[in-house]
Amino acid sequence: MAAATHPALAVLQGRLSRMAEQGLARALRPVGPATGPRVQVEGRQCLLMAGNDYLGLSRHPELARAAAEAARKLGTGSGASRLVSGTLDCHARLEQDLARFKGAPAALYLATGYMTNLAAVAGLVGPGDLVVSDELNHASIIDACRLSRARVLVYPHRDHRAAARLLAGHPGQVKLLVSDGVFSMDGDLAPVPELLAAARGAGALLVLDDAHATGVWGERGRGSLEHFGLESAAGEVVVVGTCSKALGGMGGFVTGPREVIDTLVHRARSLMYTTAPPPPQVAVVAEALRLLDREPWRRQRVHQLSRRLRQGLARGGFMVLSGEGPIVPVLVGETEPTLALALALWRRGVYAPAMRPPTVPPGRCRIRFTVTAAHQPGDMDLALEALAGAAREVGL
Ligand SMILES: *Cc1c(COP(=O)(O)O)cnc(C)c1O
Repeated sequence: MAAATHPALAVLQGRLSRMAEQGLARALRPVGPATGPRVQVEGRQCLLMAGNDYLGLSRHPELARAAAEAARKLGTGSGASRLVSGTLDCHARLEQDLARFKGAPAALYLATGYMTNLAAVAGLVGPGDLVVSDELNHASIIDACRLSRARVLVYPHRDHRAAARLLAGHPGQVKLLVSDGVFSMDGDLAPVPELLAAARGAGALLVLDDAHATGVWGERGRGSLEHFGLESAAGEVVVVGTCSKALGGMGGFVTGPREVIDTLVHRARSLMYTTAPPPPQVAVVAEALRLLDREPWRRQRVHQLSRRLRQGLARGGFMVLSGEGPIVPVLVGETEPTLALALALWRRGVYAPAMRPPTVPPGRCRIRFTVTAAHQPGDMDLALEALAGAAREVGL
């Protein structure tokens, strides 16, 4: 049957057209080939200021070597779920490294950060339990809350007092307080000390999603607990991290109390019903953890460059959300002007796409610039110049 006459396909087509009319059309746009942060996008050479490869590790020769060697020695697939025959020596060793990295009693490594959040929330709570969650938490946390079938209460962004009230005012056998450590679209940090106090006060477990903090925040890149001087709490906080951003590879991990990790091994469906990550993926993460210590300049540089970009944006009169760090969101507002600005930027050779609903709330569309250690100071100036020109062109 032709698409237009198939009833279900006609409905889908109608839905797609309505999204396009609202400026919400999306496309999978190939980026690359790349040399450092210079990429091709639709035939145009661009400075890439998107993505989350904060330390520039995804093209590090040592990681490529580790992946190739693991593929040759150990194979390209693990062949089964972690609970069947998929747990290899390399998984066990990596989990020891990850626990040590975070100073936590135990760790568990999963295929992606998304699946790790499914595990860390839906693997710990169910009916009769309570989850208290920040309104700007990542979509994977929102999905995990829904999957868990626990009672879910949402508090205003970063409002730890509201979180404490919700935790105290509602029953739950197990209570979780869940927050991004660094928020993915706004780039701001959670009030971690206050959240920890709220969790302790209510006998709740604090779950921090450090997807954007791992490798970037804290003197040694250990994440948001280290940044706030709370590393000693690593034995009681459930920390989620991703290996797909600053670590330049793929996968996610949970660290925390032994009881938490043991529970996930028994209950986390995103661990049990998927094939274990293959050896090359594991080897990349293990090597990236070593590089974090061997090449601290990457972390220092990403923060220096972020400050340079933020200062320039402030001088240029742009509305930048949040205070520090490599996620630099320039708030525009509605979808159409944001899309126009992103397009004008791309024509000027800078690729930083527009963020629209449902990724951000309606009326809060933005250009989300990200900075990496692979950028040069001059790249920040280039981006600032391009943005100023693009804003003039579209009348902002
Ligand atoms: C990217 C991201 C994830 C998912 O990690 P992947 O490894 O890409 O699946 C989870 N949480 C937050 C806050 C993120 O930004």
